[in-house]
Amino acid sequence: MNLKSMTLPELTEVLKQLGQPAFRAKQVYGWLHKGVRSYEEMTNLPKALRDTLADTYPIHPPVVARKQESRRDGTIKYLWQLSDGNCVETVLMRYHYGNTVCISTEVGCAMGCAFCASTLGGLVRRLEPFEMLDQVLFTQIDSGLPVSHIVLMGIGEPLDNFDNVMRFLELVNSPEGMNISMRHISLSTCGLVPKIDQLAQRKLQISLAISLHGSNDAIRNKIMPVNRAYPLEELLGACRRYYAATSRRLHFEYAMIDGVNDSEDNARELLQRLKGLPAHVNLIPLNHVEESPLKPSSKAAVARFQKLLEEGGVTATVRRTLGSDIDASCGQLRRKYNQGK
Ligand code: SAH
Repeated sequence: MNLKSMTLPELTEVLKQLGQPAFRAKQVYGWLHKGVRSYEEMTNLPKALRDTLADTYPIHPPVVARKQESRRDGTIKYLWQLSDGNCVETVLMRYHYGNTVCISTEVGCAMGCAFCASTLGGLVRRLEPFEMLDQVLFTQIDSGLPVSHIVLMGIGEPLDNFDNVMRFLELVNSPEGMNISMRHISLSTCGLVPKIDQLAQRKLQISLAISLHGSNDAIRNKIMPVNRAYPLEELLGACRRYYAATSRRLHFEYAMIDGVNDSEDNARELLQRLKGLPAHVNLIPLNHVEESPLKPSSKAAVARFQKLLEEGGVTATVRRTLGSDIDASCGQLRRKYNQGK
C-alpha cells in the first residue's frame, strides 16, 4: 500500500517496524498530507530514514497533463496523469462559500449512463485512496487556492470503489491531515442500493447526492442501466433508510434532457415519488456530449419544471453552469486527451 493511503496508526506501525518512534510517523504523515513530492523535502527526518522510505514507498505524485482555466468564472480543470500513465480529471470551482474541488474516484466508469462522457470507454481501474487525496492536495498547491469543500462527482462511481473511498474520506478529514469537515463533502451515486445501505451504517455527516434523472423506471431504464438492477422504488427506499440513519437531507440530481424527462407530467410524477422525503432537487441542464444524441432541455422547460416542483413543496435549484468554456463536465477532457494521443 502507498504510504499516503495509510491512516496515522497504520503509518505509526510501519515506522515502528523500522525502529522509529511514534513522533516520526506524525512528521511523515504531516509532510505527505502537505503534498511533498519527495522524501528529500522532509527536512526534519534523518537522511537514512528518508532513503529507506524512498526505496520502499515511492511517493508517486501525479503530474499535470492538461490545465484549463475558464475566463468566465475562474473554474480550473486539471487532467492529472497518475504514475501508471492513466489520467483523471479534477475541477476547482470558486463559490462564495469556499473553493470546491470535484474529484474522480475511478479511471473510467462501468455504469454506462447514456448521457455521460466518463463511461464511454468503460472502467479501466479504481483509484487508490492516495490518488483521490492527491487530487485535492495538488489542485490546492498548483492553484494556490485553499480548498474547503469536496464533491465526489468527477469520473467514476464512488460507491463502486467503496472501501477506497471510505478510506479517502477518513484521510482527508483527519486533524493531522487536510482536516476537511465531513459536512463539507458531498458524495454522488447513480444508485447502488446495497452500497447506500452500507454507507448509511457509517453514519457520516457527508451529504449524499443521488443521480435520479428520471421520474419513473421506463425513463431511468433507458438512460441509466443501473436502474435495471435497482429500480426507482428500491432506490427511494434506500434513500428513506439513509435519512432515518443519518438525519441528513438528500440531494437529487436531475439532468434535464430534451423530450426525455422534462415534461410537466414528469415533474408531477417526481413530486409524487419524493413525497415525505426531506429532499432538495438540483436541476442540471444537460451538458451536450459529442457522442450522444441527447440534447439539453430548453431554458423554458427547465424553468417550468422548477416552478412545478417548488409549487409542490420540493425545493429545486437550477445548477449554474461553471466552466462551460473549458469542457468542465466530467469525462470530456480525459476523452479528448486519450483520443489525441
Ligand atoms: N457516478 C456518480 C458521480 C459522478 S457524475 C453519479 O452517477 O452520481 C456526477 C453527476 O454528473 C451525476 O449526477 C451525473 O449523472 C451527472 N452527469 C454526467 N454526465 C452529464 C451530462 N452530460 N450532463 C449533465 N450531467 C451529467
